[in-house]
Amino acid sequence: MLTILRQIIQEVSSADDFKEALDIMVKRIANALATQACSIFLRDLHRAEYVLVATQGLNPDAVGKVRVPLNKGIIGLVAEREEPINLDDAKKHPHFLPVEEIREEAYRAFLGVPVIYHRQVLGVLLVQQEEPRRYDEAEEAFLVTLATQLASIIAHAEASGDLSELLEDKNQPHELVYAGVPGAPGIGIGKGVVVYIPYDLDSVPDREPEDVDLEIQLLHAAFATVREDLRLLEERLYPSLPSEERALFSVYQRILDSSDLGEEIAKHIHAGNWAPGALRHTIQIHVQRLESLDNEYMRERSADIKDLGLRVLACLQKNTRASPRYDEKTILIGESLTPADLAEVPEGCLAGVISMQGSSNSHIAILARAMKVPTVMGVSDAPLQDLQGKEIIVDGYYGQIYVSPDAALYAEFDRLIQEEQKLDAALEEVRDLPAVTKDGHRIGLMVNAGLGADISIALAAGAEGVGLYRTEVPFLMRDRFPSAEEQRIIYRQLLVSFAPRPVMIRTLDVGGDKPLPYFPIKEDNPFLGWRGIRITLDHPEIFLSQMRAMLRASHGLNNLRVMLPMITDVLEVDESLRLLHKAYVEVRDEGYDIDMPQLGVMIEVPSAVYQARSLAKRVDFLSVGSNDLTQYILAVDRNNPRVAGLYDALHPAVLRALIQVVESGHQEGKHVSICGEIASDPVAVMLLLAMGFDSLSMNATSVGRVRWIVRHVTQKNAARLLHEVLGMESAVMIRCHMELALERAGLGNLIRAGR
Ligand code: PEP
Ligand code: MG
Repeated sequence: MLTILRQIIQEVSSADDFKEALDIMVKRIANALATQACSIFLRDLHRAEYVLVATQGLNPDAVGKVRVPLNKGIIGLVAEREEPINLDDAKKHPHFLPVEEIREEAYRAFLGVPVIYHRQVLGVLLVQQEEPRRYDEAEEAFLVTLATQLASIIAHAEASGDLSELLEDKNQPHELVYAGVPGAPGIGIGKGVVVYIPYDLDSVPDREPEDVDLEIQLLHAAFATVREDLRLLEERLYPSLPSEERALFSVYQRILDSSDLGEEIAKHIHAGNWAPGALRHTIQIHVQRLESLDNEYMRERSADIKDLGLRVLACLQKNTRASPRYDEKTILIGESLTPADLAEVPEGCLAGVISMQGSSNSHIAILARAMKVPTVMGVSDAPLQDLQGKEIIVDGYYGQIYVSPDAALYAEFDRLIQEEQKLDAALEEVRDLPAVTKDGHRIGLMVNAGLGADISIALAAGAEGVGLYRTEVPFLMRDRFPSAEEQRIIYRQLLVSFAPRPVMIRTLDVGGDKPLPYFPIKEDNPFLGWRGIRITLDHPEIFLSQMRAMLRASHGLNNLRVMLPMITDVLEVDESLRLLHKAYVEVRDEGYDIDMPQLGVMIEVPSAVYQARSLAKRVDFLSVGSNDLTQYILAVDRNNPRVAGLYDALHPAVLRALIQVVESGHQEGKHVSICGEIASDPVAVMLLLAMGFDSLSMNATSVGRVRWIVRHVTQKNAARLLHEVLGMESAVMIRCHMELALERAGLGNLIRAGR
């Protein structure tokens, strides 16, 4: 049985495409088990049905047509129970549901196993036979093993778009919904523009070629360049190369010279893909084929094919990687987008953002919120390569995208956009009024700046100062550390624009998910590694240069506050204070008229929560960085979409930590603010009010909404709600409770589109 299993797996992975892989599988299983029928039903979530996608033995014309509703029939039961069902006479089973097109009533013996990937049932693999028969245990185990193989093939097909193509119901309008997590609120409608990482074969999207002949020419030219590059390289290195490496060059040359690879790619170009897409497709098939082989030497050759593919891609991209064409309403899509990708879209053209990776607390989502661009993160199931040029709706409230929506859906979302615009106009009217509750409790509203938020937007939002300026941006935008003078100019502009309002400038916080391109840090565990204050205290020259720049920039203004990120130990504060004093004395000696700025500590890790009072003693203010604090308290990577469902700053443990920080800070008579994304979450605002935070700092585009909430609630009601949620044991319950409270207060339109 094991040999047959291996052979089937090998054959299946050598298939040219997904459909062929399924067909091979059913045929070989039917043979191996000497049974009349073997079929695969896959789940089509968009229609809540199982679709027959491959069969050996049942009516072949029924493939793609027979659709069984979810939870119906024995197939539905296999999926629901998530375990095999083995029957000698299926007709006697109460769930038996005869399907006419495939003459189900003729079959008695039935063995169905669920196909599960990452806890999700993707479909059912089943075998049937007319005469009663009991499939034995070994046969059941055989089918279960193949179902796990099938699961990874389906997951791969899902990512490449092959699955949706196969499941597509030709009689139904073509509209697909994919779920991710909310990144930035709002609704965006526009055309998909896929950007991809240069020189990364797997992220190359499919695209229709504008000129097939030109694509073929580019391909040949790229092959010729790679051939020549390799020849030169070999010539240069040959004398010093060991024989194994020399052999590698000849393998590469042989692959390039054999016309097969080039012809295969050209075939895909003729079939309607541009050269980089056709190259990706062909290389992936070869790699999969080689990796599935039983022979270790051949398996290792897959690395050669990949490497060669990358070399050809690099040449192609040199010739073809012009900047993508943006639509007037662009929905920017990428595997993992960077701030530069967003910046490249011409002003006024960015209608939405979709990122396959990341979650709502990734820095790209924070940037999108600052820019007020509806965003959905972690849409890992969507076929990235298939979204180019498609009409797409981005629902940033629910974290969903709709591809090629029908007219009715389009009209509904268009109506919601118009209602949003009305709400924005209402918010505008209270822009200059203070954030005071109906029973007179005042809270400060500040802005987070640095990640995209331009100063004029922040000022226009009526903010009372800057609660967080992320200094890493000028560091990230260059190919070297910015000089003290370059930094001084940037900080000065910020301080002048907001004076006399306070501006909290945070010292450099790189590492984690913000590596500097020119200061590479390779670590297994970057979020627990060298980041934030840990780097700058190890490099006092960087720290001092930044402090001096800030101090010089504050000349004559006295509105600078300095804030330290990622503090985990009081000694880090003591050392930072020493350096700040040193820089202060030096800058004063240079003749600058400055006061000693207030110093604050960010509370971002659990140890700082427990030691908040000791920290508060040493400084002038505390500011909670709830994005990191949540990730470290819950042990959930803020960027990982797989665990995004576990990341919620409303978790009872996080709420208790926040209360402890406010109390500790106030016991020492110090100002306590919060500058993580929770401060702009409408659902959380009332709780933060009740906890007693002195100020909330958020992206500029949220200030209006938060002001609106504060002015429409009472501190008394907020305190009651906080008391209620502290009796709850999970973030989900707390979130539901607070959403309901917002709806009851007539503020539901701040958490979803529409009235
Ligand atoms: C935070 O961690 O909450 C924070 C404000 O800092 P950043 O998001 O830049 O890490
Ligand atoms: Mg942080």
